[in-house]
Amino acid sequence: EFVKDFPHTKSMLDVFHSVFGLKKFRHNQREAVNAALEGYDCFVLMPTGGGKSLCYQLPAVLDQGVTFVVSPLRSLILDQKQKLLSLGVACTALTGDITKSEADEIYRELYKHVPGYKIVYITPEKIKHSEQLERLLKSLYDRNLLSRFVIDEAHCVSEYGHDFRPDYLNLGQLHVKYRNVKFILLTATATPRVKKDILHQMKITNAKLFIQSFNRSNLIYECRPKGTTDNALKKILTLIQADYKNQCGIIYCFSRNECEKTANYLASYKIKALAYHAGLNDSKRAQVQNQWANDDTCQVICATIAFGMGIDKPNVRYVIHLSMPKSIEGYYQESGRAGRDGAMSFCYLFYGYQDLVKMKRLIMSEVTMTSTKEAKKIRIDNLHRVYSYCLNNADCRRTLLLEYFGEAFSSQECKRIKATTCDNCRSVLKTKTLDCTQLSIDIVKLVTQLVGEGKKSRQNITLNQIIDILRGSKNKNIIEAKYDQLASYNSCSHMNKIDVERLLSKLILEGYLYQDIVVLQAHDSAVAYIRPGQRAHIVTNPAFQKSIKIELTI
Ligand code: ADP
Repeated sequence: EFVKDFPHTKSMLDVFHSVFGLKKFRHNQREAVNAALEGYDCFVLMPTGGGKSLCYQLPAVLDQGVTFVVSPLRSLILDQKQKLLSLGVACTALTGDITKSEADEIYRELYKHVPGYKIVYITPEKIKHSEQLERLLKSLYDRNLLSRFVIDEAHCVSEYGHDFRPDYLNLGQLHVKYRNVKFILLTATATPRVKKDILHQMKITNAKLFIQSFNRSNLIYECRPKGTTDNALKKILTLIQADYKNQCGIIYCFSRNECEKTANYLASYKIKALAYHAGLNDSKRAQVQNQWANDDTCQVICATIAFGMGIDKPNVRYVIHLSMPKSIEGYYQESGRAGRDGAMSFCYLFYGYQDLVKMKRLIMSEVTMTSTKEAKKIRIDNLHRVYSYCLNNADCRRTLLLEYFGEAFSSQECKRIKATTCDNCRSVLKTKTLDCTQLSIDIVKLVTQLVGEGKKSRQNITLNQIIDILRGSKNKNIIEAKYDQLASYNSCSHMNKIDVERLLSKLILEGYLYQDIVVLQAHDSAVAYIRPGQRAHIVTNPAFQKSIKIELTI
């Protein structure tokens, strides 16, 4: 519908070639630009690096009026502004850090009969709080010079997303206040649920959707058990020394402290590693970014997720998560910083139950305006989903990741493109199916019995205790509490620990069990919902003849 020629086509191609200096459109770019120029609201979903910016920058150059781009990060804004200025596109930014006289100058320009700027970047806080900006928008609107609103990182508007920002919530008002002004919503991450919520929050009903596959076929996914942090550090060191000498990589860490520790550790083995996190001051951060851009002085960045948006280095060969990501979407984003140049690259995720508990604790202890009970539940759910992804050693990881974004991907395909596959598809283990219906019912009953029917807890019971009971542990605490007299004691003796954990994790994720931080509870009448037909694949390792993977399908 949007690939044919339009009256604007000639001038559009002109600008594309001469202003942006580009030759060929990337997937969906031409369509989105055309739809925007034809006056439609557009929703553009492209993986990071896909070329979303052009979708609004090109129409903005052609439009008569001014395009306002809402973007969450100052660094992103400055980056874009710099790029546009170097192309000769008149643009500016109204961020919190400019001086009053700079701001006045910008406003003066925009109040002119024909303002010179094509694009003005603003932060969501500005839209929310600045009356001066509101008067300006109104004035431009009344003069028919407000051509478009662009919402960059639009997933920030949705609480279901991985990066919800309260300041984004009010953006829906723009549509009400400035009727007929068109919108472009851009994001690199949106599950069907988030996508629906973005459009709902923004009050946009008839947007043209441009949605691109999320498959990154040059990325190889692997999950590895972590053990203690020190152990994990050793594993990472070995990995880098063996496979990635003199290559670039990112290591995502849990905290500022862990970033420093990891960087120092690697540096002590002569690996050029630097830490990057929100605790560094602006000039230090800029310095690290510069060094990172230059392979010679920094090859490995040990970062918190503060390192991310807007950083575009093409030859990152590996991304390691030393600490679990906060959500599958977050994981997709962070791991997606590998292999931007299209060459084969690796994504390793180190996981451990301790991390899950630590991160949950952090979420539960937060007391801010936005950490409502509901918001916390979403975040805990997101975490459990990541953990379950890690524990899953039966299904194709690519399928699991893409499924999360509402995309179907056959694991056959993963096996076909042999080199670019995932650990699970590469695994030589054989799958065997086990009916876990009765076992699941027994487990839920056991938890119910121990904590007291979902009413006020009689005793606190943890996931590890349940595992111990099920596997018939002779642990002193278990014996003293007389748990060895329970009917389910030792009922999973035929399964190994990690399999039992997988089963429990699945029951938590599916909502049969509920886990606070470590304490387990059963949901009321959960047992009634467990139906026959739940199966688990047990995978046996021919070398050891013991079950080592389990996947419960409900
Ligand atoms: P996103 O916002 O989707 O992450 P960007 O818009 O920042 O991606 O684009 C990523 C990179 O790709 C930029 O360096 C941009 O200049 C480049 N790019 C965008 N479109 C094209 C194109 N049609 N041809 C070549 N390079 C492009």
